[in-house]
Amino acid sequence: MSSNIPQHLILDHYDSPIWLMNDKFKIVSYNNSFVKVFNPQNKEKHLTSHDFLQLIEGEKDKKYWKTRIEKTLTNSKQQFTYSKHLDNELQIFEIKSKFIDFNNEERLISLFAYNQTATKSFEKQLEKQNFELKKINEELDNFVYSVSHQIRSPLTSLLGLINIAKIDKQNKIRDYLDLMQTSIANLDQTVHEINDYSKNARLDIQCEEIDFEKICQEILDDISFGGRLISFKVIRNINNGQLFKSDGERIRVIISNLLSNAIKFNDLEKDQPTITIDIITSKKNAEITITDNGEGIDERALPKIFDMFYRGSRSAQGAGLGLYVVKEIVHKIKGSIEVESESGYGSKFIVKLPNLK
Ligand code: ADP
Repeated sequence: MSSNIPQHLILDHYDSPIWLMNDKFKIVSYNNSFVKVFNPQNKEKHLTSHDFLQLIEGEKDKKYWKTRIEKTLTNSKQQFTYSKHLDNELQIFEIKSKFIDFNNEERLISLFAYNQTATKSFEKQLEKQNFELKKINEELDNFVYSVSHQIRSPLTSLLGLINIAKIDKQNKIRDYLDLMQTSIANLDQTVHEINDYSKNARLDIQCEEIDFEKICQEILDDISFGGRLISFKVIRNINNGQLFKSDGERIRVIISNLLSNAIKFNDLEKDQPTITIDIITSKKNAEITITDNGEGIDERALPKIFDMFYRGSRSAQGAGLGLYVVKEIVHKIKGSIEVESESGYGSKFIVKLPNLK
């Protein structure tokens, strides 16, 4: 009884197309999956004795199949890939074909198509992850190497100052203490920036309603407290009308770093050193522009200022991490940053952030 079960019932069990055709491409037998892949809209009602090549679209693909089948007949088996759009998605099949030398009446070829799309996309994803991991590893190596140098340089100068202070005979201890304070402040700044960098890489985005007015006020209060704003005119144009959502802590670091730079690299020789903060929010995004009339950035330095540890100016005393951290944070919250600057005239940093509703 069991020997009478039609074979196609067994073959229909597989969700991979399996079919048999002769050397003239006439279909002899097939399973359900074959219909789903090669005759998806059921245009042809009966596929038995049908020309397989008529199910293949495009002259190029027809030619490809002809060559592959000819090779199967000469080499007895073949393995090749075939791609086809199904439900608007490209599917990649690995085809195995085998010539069946069946009592010489008819030259038959059996074919099996294995859908590799998921495996291929998984492989691609793995490749991408691997590439990113390698990049992160290289960056980490570079980072550790440079950080140890950056931390050592203020420490070395501290040690030097202590040695000089110990043998000081001219009562200049106060001067040495001032210099030591600067070294420690630089070191503290570097550690802060490393912490901001690591928090940005580690923590997920915390979306909340952003009050730009409040954030700017708090940053300016902090900066004024250190006495760094005394000689500056600060202009604020903050249009906070539109409800804007993003990561408040990250936005605070961005604005704080840009304002710190606007102060650090300002030109106190100018009549009125000025910093302008423009913030416009809309349904879609926020545009934060920080403009200064400071020393500006040399054309050659401009493409490098967002690089890790890049310091482009003689007055730069930091570690060259600030703008790198800003760039990383801006990317994390899916925004963009641009700079316009002219040496001697000033700089403008424009940050565009999407409203993450
Ligand atoms: P750091 O402030 O530690 O030097 P940053 O990464 O913040 O490092 O900045 C990198 C370089 O870009 C600075 O050394 C400086 O040359 C330049 N730069 C950044 N902001 C400004 C600015 N507002 N005006 C002039 N130069 C700037």
